[in-house]
Amino acid sequence: MASRRKSSLIVVSNREPYTIKRDGRLEKTVGGLVSALDPVMCSARGVWIASTRARRGMKVEVPPEAPSYTMRLVPVSTKDFEDYYDGYSNSFLWPLCHITLDRVYLRDRYWESYKRVNQLFAEAVVEEADGRKMFVWLQDYHLALCADYIKEKNPGLKLSLFWHIPWPPYDVFRACPHRREVLRGLLANDLLGFQIEAFTRNFLRCVELELKDEVRIEGDMIYTERGKTRVSAFPISIDYGWFEEAATSSRAERFLRRFKRERNLEGRLIGLSVDRLDYTKGIIRGLSALELFFEKYPEFKRRFSFIQIAVPTRVSETYLGYMETVRRKVYTINSRFATGDWRPIEYIEKKFTHQELAGLYRGADLLMISSVYDGMNLVAKEYIASQVDLTGIVLVSLFAGVSEDVPGVITINPYATENYADTIKMALEIDDREKQRLIKKARGYIRRKDIYRWVSGILREIRRIR
Ligand code: UDP
Repeated sequence: MASRRKSSLIVVSNREPYTIKRDGRLEKTVGGLVSALDPVMCSARGVWIASTRARRGMKVEVPPEAPSYTMRLVPVSTKDFEDYYDGYSNSFLWPLCHITLDRVYLRDRYWESYKRVNQLFAEAVVEEADGRKMFVWLQDYHLALCADYIKEKNPGLKLSLFWHIPWPPYDVFRACPHRREVLRGLLANDLLGFQIEAFTRNFLRCVELELKDEVRIEGDMIYTERGKTRVSAFPISIDYGWFEEAATSSRAERFLRRFKRERNLEGRLIGLSVDRLDYTKGIIRGLSALELFFEKYPEFKRRFSFIQIAVPTRVSETYLGYMETVRRKVYTINSRFATGDWRPIEYIEKKFTHQELAGLYRGADLLMISSVYDGMNLVAKEYIASQVDLTGIVLVSLFAGVSEDVPGVITINPYATENYADTIKMALEIDDREKQRLIKKARGYIRRKDIYRWVSGILREIRRIR
């Protein structure tokens, strides 16, 4: 059993690293962050604090097979969860930070719950730290105010927050009525991480314009009355080795072969997009470019098929409406261009496992990321890692973090439909040597900068803080 005395690291996220199933079994949450942090937490013998809808909080030692660190679940009432999570986080901050202001919806009670839940998390952190010096690593936009509340009670803790989604330009951020409180909350962290330099610059500019009387900015340091905050970019990544190995496995090969046979894709060029059904992913933009592509270049009919995987995600009216629009668009394109046993778009509305995705990634000749704004986009990195035959090419929206981070990808503008359609043609006709040069460059970069490097880079920075 873990000795709690050794513990030096507290991670806080809305979502728990292990879900407790009805029968009491613990199941590890799927995702890059949990995969990367789980071993770190095991060796640090840390505490991971997350929310639960259960009435009572609880502590569980995880992983179940070799208990090494503590998962502490903080109870959040159903009402508060709706207002803090569905409300302030996902109906307000999410669209605001993705510059989709027409989707923003805000109620006063969302903000009240957001503050309350951030307080609950902060109280749990202070209790766990119990007066000791520890690193506290907060995850994402659900916890913007947490550091402030923690510092009030225990100013000695070292705090860092990683903001996984974009930070918008000031003219957009101005739409937030609580912008000063949010900025002040974030500036209670000693280290603030964003995905790319562009978001860091946006954040610094917001601080400069909004809090000019209370702060001094020098390079990437912001000095406040209470202390200082370093603001820096740490592009998140994936487990490169895992995807490379999964893509070469016989399971992935079998899956791809069956998939192609069942969908009549054998012998055709294959394009692929893998998105949650979220309006920020620009699925309609990508489909519009494909529609124009088939209109302008009919010689690709029957030769090229496009797989759009769309994973249903949130269930609000906004999301259901978006799903309907996507389905209609697919129907229109397929009705326009399908001939005989071929249709241009294979639309699949379900979630695939990483193992299955690795197979699809390996077999697809082209990946399209059409996001209208995106923190990073891990799908692009997973595709690149799975491209073991060096036959694929990646088109990435200039509004996705990955286009600033990774070399060897081709940048597209999802709003310039004609140019996007022409770029699809260019990518499908690019000569093999150039294609290999590009994908090798991208692979080399992600191999060096994988998720483990990301975690250790941030932890190293936190340790350096005085
Ligand atoms: N994903 C998955 N199954 C699917 C579709 C997506 O497991 O059918 C995963 C995908 O592999 C990636 C994550 O969901 O790890 C999506 O991350 P990304 O950064 O691309 O977008 P987000 O959904 O976080 O905005």
